Amino acid sequence: MARLFTVGPVQMHPRTMAVKSQSVPYFRTADFSTVMAEIDKMLKALLKTAPTSKCAYLTASGTGAMEAAIINLFTSKDKLLIINGGTFGKRFALICEVCGIPFEELIVNEGCALSRRHFMEFDNKGFTGLLVNLDESSTGQLYDAFLIKDFCHRNHLILVIDAMTTFLCDPFDMDHFSADAVIISSQKGLALSPGLSTVIVNEKTVENRVNHIAPKSLYFNLKDYFSDIARGQTPYTPAIGVLLEMHDMLRNISCKGVENHIAEISRRARYFREKAKVLCVDIPTYPLSNCLTPISFQVPIAKRVFDELKKDYGYTVNPSGGIKAEYQLRISHIGDLDLSDYDSLISAIQHIMNQWARDQVGGAPFEESP
Ligand SMILES: *Cc1c(COP(=O)(O)O)cnc(C)c1O
Repeated sequence: MARLFTVGPVQMHPRTMAVKSQSVPYFRTADFSTVMAEIDKMLKALLKTAPTSKCAYLTASGTGAMEAAIINLFTSKDKLLIINGGTFGKRFALICEVCGIPFEELIVNEGCALSRRHFMEFDNKGFTGLLVNLDESSTGQLYDAFLIKDFCHRNHLILVIDAMTTFLCDPFDMDHFSADAVIISSQKGLALSPGLSTVIVNEKTVENRVNHIAPKSLYFNLKDYFSDIARGQTPYTPAIGVLLEMHDMLRNISCKGVENHIAEISRRARYFREKAKVLCVDIPTYPLSNCLTPISFQVPIAKRVFDELKKDYGYTVNPSGGIKAEYQLRISHIGDLDLSDYDSLISAIQHIMNQWARDQVGGAPFEESP
């Protein structure tokens, strides 16, 4: 059976596909406002933030929400620290560059865990905000939220957390982490269709920042979203179909309990990491999110494994970019997957690796990994 072992989009649940198969209703109605109000209430409860926090439901991919958060919370008078440990940290830096917001980067080198030492040189340097992808999905590293919180408290920084692949995957508590703004997207932990991203901002930051900043954007002016959501509406056409998928999913997760939901994903991650030992692949030693596991092969076989998994088994995994492309794949643990799916995936990878080894006899010389 075809399966998506990717982090976004993910293998969708049948219940979501049932919602998706319905035609979308007109949205400027009391009925739709009621649905939006329910979504808003459930989302804040699951994020563990006060009911006074405000959510903007944007028809955009996650990057749109990252940009919206930055231009509504900061100006050219700010100085931001960006934790850059991969593709998505780098994206924060690119957005600040485009938007003319001063920043410096705290670089987390390949294979290294973010630690207290990384922050030492950045204390008392006039920073006003910090941007972090709590799970940097390109490496799977889950940063220590309390380490970041401590640094932000010491230095009085506004904290923006991109929680795209950690919300609903790992324990998450917006207010306890002292996050002033959080960014999520429909196609990741929520396991919905792409197209809906949400920026959640706490009351203090709405009052101190958002209400006083005039971003050079009409569509991404969060003030308009925050005032309209009070009556269950958005200023522009929302991703209605995805919101209905979200309503169904949030209800489902709220009923079964978010802790139980996360425990399920954690169980899959641990199961896969244990079972993958038969493949003799390397798994990073830094802290990993439950969302995904990067696996590195000793030989340059990743592209072949990716292609053959897709062609011969209908399994799609995440490739890795850059110099890791030939050696690393990333396997997701979110969406409608169960433990037996990982058994099937591992035996398929094993089969492809064995075939590769047979092809090498008298073939190309063994290549060393970099
Ligand atoms: C997926 C993702 C994004 C956003 O990517 P889009 O393609 O714009 O949806 C941002 N940050 C992280 C950590 C992600 O995993």
